[in-house]
Amino acid sequence: MGTIAVTGSASGIGAAVTEQLRKAGHTVIGVDLRGAEVTADLSTAEGRTHAIDEIGRLCEGTLDGFLPFAGLAAAAGRPGALLVSVNYFGAITVLEGVRPLLRNSASASVVLVSSNSTTTQPNWPVELAEACLAGEESRAREIADSFAEWGAIQAYPATKAALAWYARTKSAEFIAEGVRLNAIAPGLIDTPMTQAGTTDALTGEGMKGFLAATPIGRPGRPEEIAELVSFLLSESASFFVGSVIFCDGGIDAAFRGKDWPAVWSFPQS
Ligand code: NAD
Repeated sequence: MGTIAVTGSASGIGAAVTEQLRKAGHTVIGVDLRGAEVTADLSTAEGRTHAIDEIGRLCEGTLDGFLPFAGLAAAAGRPGALLVSVNYFGAITVLEGVRPLLRNSASASVVLVSSNSTTTQPNWPVELAEACLAGEESRAREIADSFAEWGAIQAYPATKAALAWYARTKSAEFIAEGVRLNAIAPGLIDTPMTQAGTTDALTGEGMKGFLAATPIGRPGRPEEIAELVSFLLSESASFFVGSVIFCDGGIDAAFRGKDWPAVWSFPQS
């Protein structure tokens, strides 16, 4: 049994994972805006520092798992910059902060939550994802806000792509420290986030269309994602390093059937 920190633990996927891990006997340190062991606003530098300090104190120096799941969806009136700060920097800054605690575990695992919007929402701004991956929060926020009222729509898949890229490009570094780093890419999951999204002025019609196109014919359940996360945290997943695992009722495969695997052109020009 281990000690696992979960951000966004008060709702949706984070809450389902927290419940499942506790039932399995793990100690969970929840972090959220309210209703968690650690109260922190991860959109701010102060909130992230507070979360890192409190996780360190509560786990007594050794952390076996980290799930930075706090996130915001696109919604009418929500600035794109806020999504940048919560979805990407709220996850990665805290991950970097708790990294020494993960190193102290005999077998640590980190799961980032990307999204299948990365492959099913067209034309998201690559430049924004690159700025995130480069750690340039101010620049990423500026790019997101340059899309005005469409900023959140553009920022969502870009921040989630940056998380997938982070998992893929940093996993070798992490495993050298004994930490397995992977990401999941869920499709539409029935949580307060998506329940609000289906009636939102900005996202409502798109989300209904997305659901109608999902081959399995229903949204996923948070518990289904929790099962995948529990597996990735466990020793049964000991050879998973740098993977991005889609769990989306078939929509990525339906939209992009032959886009992967793609031929690796080597040497690259
Ligand atoms: P949710 O809204 O039910 O839960 C998100 C949690 O994050 C909430 O408890 C909220 O309070 C917390 N949070 C938001 N802003 C925060 C901040 N500034 N500081 C600290 N905590 C904050 O959403 P969910 O559907 O469970 O989503 C969880 C994660 O999964 C998100 O990162 C989301 O992008 C991702 N995701 C969700 C879906 C989906 O369809 N639901 C699909 C793919 C990926």
